[in-house]
Amino acid sequence: MKYQALYRKYRPKTFDDVYGQQIVVQTLKNVIKNNKLTHAYLFVGPRGTGKTSIAKIFAKTINCLHPEDGLSCEKCDICISNNSNENVDIIEMDAASNNGVDEIREIRNHIALLPTVSKYKIYIIDEVHMLTTGAFNALLKTLEEPPEHIIFILATTEPHKIPLTIMSRCQSFEFKPIPVATIKERLKYICAQENINIDDKSLNLIAEESNGGLRDAVSMLDQLNAYADGNIKYEDVLLLNGRINDDEIEKFMTEMVNDDLNSVFTKIESWQEEGKNFIYICEDFIRFLRNELIKFKLENNSNIVSLIGENKTIEVIMILNKISNDMKISKDKKVLFDVTIINITNILKNKQMFENTAYESKNIKIENKTPEKVEIKEEKPQTVEVPIKETKDYTLYDELMNIRLNNTLGIADKTSKIEYENAVENLKNDISDLNKLKIINLLDDTKITAGSKDGIIFTTDSDNILHDLYDNMELLEESMESLLGKKVKVCILLDELWNKKRIIYVEKIKNKEKIDIIDEEDILNKIKSLNTGEKSEFDDLLEIGGE
Ligand SMILES: [Zn+2]
Repeated sequence: MKYQALYRKYRPKTFDDVYGQQIVVQTLKNVIKNNKLTHAYLFVGPRGTGKTSIAKIFAKTINCLHPEDGLSCEKCDICISNNSNENVDIIEMDAASNNGVDEIREIRNHIALLPTVSKYKIYIIDEVHMLTTGAFNALLKTLEEPPEHIIFILATTEPHKIPLTIMSRCQSFEFKPIPVATIKERLKYICAQENINIDDKSLNLIAEESNGGLRDAVSMLDQLNAYADGNIKYEDVLLLNGRINDDEIEKFMTEMVNDDLNSVFTKIESWQEEGKNFIYICEDFIRFLRNELIKFKLENNSNIVSLIGENKTIEVIMILNKISNDMKISKDKKVLFDVTIINITNILKNKQMFENTAYESKNIKIENKTPEKVEIKEEKPQTVEVPIKETKDYTLYDELMNIRLNNTLGIADKTSKIEYENAVENLKNDISDLNKLKIINLLDDTKITAGSKDGIIFTTDSDNILHDLYDNMELLEESMESLLGKKVKVCILLDELWNKKRIIYVEKIKNKEKIDIIDEEDILNKIKSLNTGEKSEFDDLLEIGGE
């Protein structure tokens, strides 16, 4: 038997076979059920998302003699002739290869003729944006006064190139990229039908690589199947896509940690020679590190994360994520990659030094009040070399936390505390979002000590964690809100302070003393204006007052 490409073989035949695009499919089924046809439809969406397939099914169903519930019967003469591409009343045209006025004129000349066997003569024009201005004008004339028996289905990936006069005469449908899970499900089905051996990881990668286009995904599977002869391995998928495998990345990262720049740059040169795309390489590193991080968090099993540490792993992911975006507008991607690798190598190498920095700056902060000690410090040469982070004043945050402590403890209850503990546990399991990783990491060193219906108290024993959380307050509150479905005010305290304050509040509650809610608006505004670098009215007043 003649070999048939998989994407042709598994092209959907009825609306019920279509994967993804539920909204479009349901609407078109309703159009047929309720007999609400118009003369022109416009299908808009990225390549491979089903525009042409659905146009063909729609055309067939419109003409089907016994449609049922918006579906073609697949038994009548019309359906049968359609399925073997023998229906003369459905005319397909690819504007990418026929962009001339002549073709559209020919359509216009034939348009007056009644359909041969069906109710409607249906023109499917693919990539309609490729038509020339002349052709668009000819098409417009037809759309202005369409004969009763004519229907146009236009499809495009670039709707902005279509004249408004044409658009306004069409009913438009937006085709969305198909979700990875849906593509994967379809691929799995095809593999089972075709006896193709493939693992889940490979299916995932194919689905991700196809950018929401099912046709591309199936074509890729077809290509891989031909190459691997029915036994597709993850390495094959990587190779076909010019991707780098995990072992290679792990080796490369280890060389970076060991500061073996010779090996590192030899490897980069060989990637360059093989014509690898450096944006893809960044993405491969990110995917690898993300998976390793998950393995580390869930199973405590990852060589590379154990080697470079959790925080550094996140830092490297963040850097690569930014660089892969920068690369998209950069002329020389390799130079950017080289510099990034040097930067990351320094960061990995300076693991020890960075920890020292935090230590030094903390000491200096305390010692600023006693100048003679700073002088002693300056005699040590290494403190000159180590960059000192500017110390930030967190007094306003401390004040805010005092208010929130009061407001939360005034109405604290056990149920809320348990609810928040569960929410934070859930947050820790969701490491899909890069932004949240930092929060999760910080929360690892905190515990929840109290909760009320709209407040939550975290405590920690580390100044650094406290200040990092202050700096990421907004993100933390957003994460909590999306988990809980309500806004909560977050309070973070040092263990020491919490232990002192707790006793005071326990006494108050025991003595049935009323705890008044304190308004935090003022202090919150001051923090906001401090963070945006603007002065508040309060600051101006202080200046006038000469303070
Ligand atoms: Zn039929």
